[in-house]
Amino acid sequence: TRDVVFLKAGGSFITFKDKPVSVNYMALEALAEALKATHREVSIVLGNGGGSFAHYAVLKYGSNDPTRLLVKCQQATRLLNRLIVDYLVFNNIPATSLQTSAIIGYGKDSLRAFTPPLLNLVGNGIIPVVYGECILNEKGLVEVFSTEKVFEILSSILKPSRILLLTDVEGVYSCNPKKCSNPGLIKRIDNDNLGAVLELLESDASRDVTGGMYSKVKTMSELSRKTGAKVIVTSGFNIDHVVQALRGIVPEKATIIEI
Ligand code: ADP
Repeated sequence: TRDVVFLKAGGSFITFKDKPVSVNYMALEALAEALKATHREVSIVLGNGGGSFAHYAVLKYGSNDPTRLLVKCQQATRLLNRLIVDYLVFNNIPATSLQTSAIIGYGKDSLRAFTPPLLNLVGNGIIPVVYGECILNEKGLVEVFSTEKVFEILSSILKPSRILLLTDVEGVYSCNPKKCSNPGLIKRIDNDNLGAVLELLESDASRDVTGGMYSKVKTMSELSRKTGAKVIVTSGFNIDHVVQALRGIVPEKATIIEI
């Protein structure tokens, strides 16, 4: 049987994060090319971050009107997901959208997933494209559900061998490579250095407001520990590296998280 790979196209990669509702078509082109080379070899579940689409909707409507926030946030993330899927299909990649909040939701006291749509697609060589979305919880409150969190839920259904996070930088650095003066690429994060890396990221004065890399590394290391999957963070713009990572080869420039 083929390896299952969860692939996240991060918001920093596929959108211009500081420009509302802007898609980076160079990124989509790179993504399509990497998928074209590999989708017959591995079973891929693609997920896309909300980037400049979700971010601005949440900022604008994230007040005290949950209904408005929910529909506006879902509208924004649906649009981005749709643009991505349309682009892939146009380029002959067998991909189709799977609305996150239609397959994952809060039941009586826990998160539940409705699995047949996902399993049937993957079982037939079709790439489901899920995405970070706003979800209504059982109290009627809106929860911003990241792609990483979606992967966490889906990992108990489809055991991924690898989880790839594509961003606009080559991996996890010692400090924000866009802001600090001397960033060093951290090639490997495992039991020996996880604590030290988290401390470093938490104390980085240049880290962004969303918690950025600190929370990403934290969630992904927990996921790696729980599932045994290897997590690879690398730049989506380097097609060769993405293809290697999809095939299970460690790219020259990347961060491996293996706990
Ligand atoms: P996503 O692409 O999944 O939406 P984010 O935008 O949340 O991811 O995170 C990627 C961004 O995090 C990069 O563009 C980078 O500028 C920023 N960043 C901040 N600190 C770091 C760090 N220590 N290592 C790598 N990237 C970092």
